Amino acid sequence: MLLSFTKRKMSSLRKDQLVSTYESVKAAIDSYAEEKGNSDVKLLPVSKLKPASDIQILYDHGVRSFGENYVQELITKAEMLPKDIQWHFIGGLQTNKCKDLAKVENLYAVETIDSLKKAKKLNEARSKFQPDARKIMCNVQINTSEEGQKSGLFEEKEIFEIIEFFLSAAATHVELNGLMTIGSWDTSHAANEVNDDFATLCQWKKKVDQKFNTQLKLSMGMSSDFKQAINQGTSEVRIGTDIFGSRPPRNEASI
Ligand SMILES: *Cc1c(COP(=O)(O)O)cnc(C)c1O
Repeated sequence: MLLSFTKRKMSSLRKDQLVSTYESVKAAIDSYAEEKGNSDVKLLPVSKLKPASDIQILYDHGVRSFGENYVQELITKAEMLPKDIQWHFIGGLQTNKCKDLAKVENLYAVETIDSLKKAKKLNEARSKFQPDARKIMCNVQINTSEEGQKSGLFEEKEIFEIIEFFLSAAATHVELNGLMTIGSWDTSHAANEVNDDFATLCQWKKKVDQKFNTQLKLSMGMSSDFKQAINQGTSEVRIGTDIFGSRPPRNEASI
């Protein structure tokens, strides 16, 4: 009795808290976007390592898109939660996990395509296991800081090759959406108006758009650097901490 009362009380507190942080992040983004004349910024809440109950709270509040970093965690959450959620995979992608990911019917986007092989694998698995589901929206991940330990591409030849694949008739179950980057810690925490990593991503967009006659979207900006990203023309900011609070270590997280 007492325990269930405490549980209910706690989940109602969590609800108030999450709805309030979500709304204040959303308001901050919208007002900054308006100030900077960027009329097309989407907020992607990043729910990695946070429980499904948190996602359900925001779902009940009307939110339908969430970002996840780990394939198994995304699969488990997708099974537990409503089927009209649009899942975005934003984590490091391994070739041998493309198949499991493509099987998730309501997987909306994979934002971290960093090789032609993975793009093809995703397409192949989607056409085989979910032929009637919507195409997976794909972002090519660019390593804008060229830091060795970061994933993403920075060679023009490789980037163009992937874009060509997405634009070819072979890409039946994947669709090119845009480019994505993770700003390096240093540039994100420099107090500059302009973030060099984001400027580099914009350069790549310009190059690709010119060569292929595309209109790529940009996914850049997280809790610590979303203002710079909005100022530099992003189409999507991916926010975890500012909405859900700090994350537990991966081995202590529970779904
Ligand atoms: C975790 C993560 C985010 C969210 O980061 P916060 O700093 O918590 O807002 C955004 N993008 C990617 C790729 C991430 O891995």
